[in-house]
Amino acid sequence: MKLITNGIKGTEDVLPSQSYRWQFVEDIMRKQAQVYGFKEIRTPVFEHTELFNRSVGDTTDVVQKEMYTFTTKGGESVTLRPEGTAGAARAVLEHGVYNDGYPIKAYYFTSCYRYEKPQKGRQREFHQFGMEVYGAPSYFADAEVICAAHSIFDRLGVMNLSLELNSIGCQECRPLYHKALKEYFTSCQDQLCETCLSRLDRNPMRILDCKNPECAAVAAKAPVVLDYICDDCKAHFEGVKSCLDAAKLRYKINPQIVRGLDYYTRTVFEFVSQDIGAQGTVCGGGRYDGLIEELGGQHTPSLGFGMGIERLLLLLESQKIEIPHPPVCDLYVIGLGDAAKAKAFTIIEQVRSSSLIAEGDIVGRALKPQMKYADKIKARFLMVIGESELAENRAKLKNMEDHTEKLVPLDDGFFNEFFDAYVESDQTKLLSQLDSMK
Ligand code: ATP
Ligand code: MG
Repeated sequence: MKLITNGIKGTEDVLPSQSYRWQFVEDIMRKQAQVYGFKEIRTPVFEHTELFNRSVGDTTDVVQKEMYTFTTKGGESVTLRPEGTAGAARAVLEHGVYNDGYPIKAYYFTSCYRYEKPQKGRQREFHQFGMEVYGAPSYFADAEVICAAHSIFDRLGVMNLSLELNSIGCQECRPLYHKALKEYFTSCQDQLCETCLSRLDRNPMRILDCKNPECAAVAAKAPVVLDYICDDCKAHFEGVKSCLDAAKLRYKINPQIVRGLDYYTRTVFEFVSQDIGAQGTVCGGGRYDGLIEELGGQHTPSLGFGMGIERLLLLLESQKIEIPHPPVCDLYVIGLGDAAKAKAFTIIEQVRSSSLIAEGDIVGRALKPQMKYADKIKARFLMVIGESELAENRAKLKNMEDHTEKLVPLDDGFFNEFFDAYVESDQTKLLSQLDSMK
């Protein structure tokens, strides 16, 4: 088969046989977001380029190398969102959501676009689940957000994830650290890449995040931010740690984490796995106390995280975590002859209106192939209406599990019984599913 074109490099299709994996993970994310008191926010896939330049930061890899930016027919520069935080913050500000009072707690599912080298765990279109809190200066908020992310991994049964934590200070102490970094990097500037050289003056912290191996080797010996943070930042960091201790959540202080986006202040964190190769960061986040002001709002201490859904799915696969299959077909109905086919169609609709899953032939198959197909889709019951049965308003009902067969009347009494039996068995199924997820 010769197609006129294929999907774009670095993008992935989620096919019907696989989408249940995404839905399962998304359902747990949504549920946990609700448990933590978050409501969903949805924002457009593209924004004015200026929004990302200002919030993500124009010395970051994301802005300098990775954005999909283009000029519209109207002459505006727009960018496909590379992450979810900036758009959510813009929307909250633009619509005065803060008038409802603080904190504002929002979660999102977004597709993100970054022009990166496609490889395992790194795509050009990928998806994030994120949670954001606005107007929450307390360190309890940091702990709450970290616990919320952790709760998702916990509900999914993910193992061996390490929570890495750091504080990167605030407006007060950052200049001191910048000065120390600048001195250090200037002393070894011959080993830095072009981009990092250009960052030396404006934003030396970005050099710590450079993916170039030579820069990374130099960065590994650079002064450590935790040695430079002010007393307030220290107290805040101690507060976060004590909450995590109280929640019995284990973490590791990693002074190398600075995060790839400029808006972070104070707490930054990552959940990292060793099980999915080099791209092991499944979730990254932190506090961004200056972002809302940067976008033109009032000073609003805020924080959040982004979780990469593709990387999380890779992790579930590598840890062989079973994802329940979607419900199978409850009833497959076959009609033999035009009148029985019409009857089958109405029965199928009737069953569906009770929220059970019913299927019938829409391909034009004969009896045998339909029975084979019902088997393939794992139908639990098979109903066959022949012409003579139709005349008696009856049908053959086969239980596909134990292969028993009986003649049933095609009246409301039978259907009510059938639905009741299903409601009961579905409840049992539901309870056992909840049990296995504990
Ligand atoms: P990395 O260091 O791996 O490039 P990052 O610091 O750029 O990550 P963030 O901007 O914090 O990542 O995005 C949050 C999460 O989104 C990451 O932890 C990761 O799970 C996911 N992610 C980021 N970039 C990609 C990508 N290109 N493909 C797939 N997932 C990604
Ligand atoms: Mg990146």
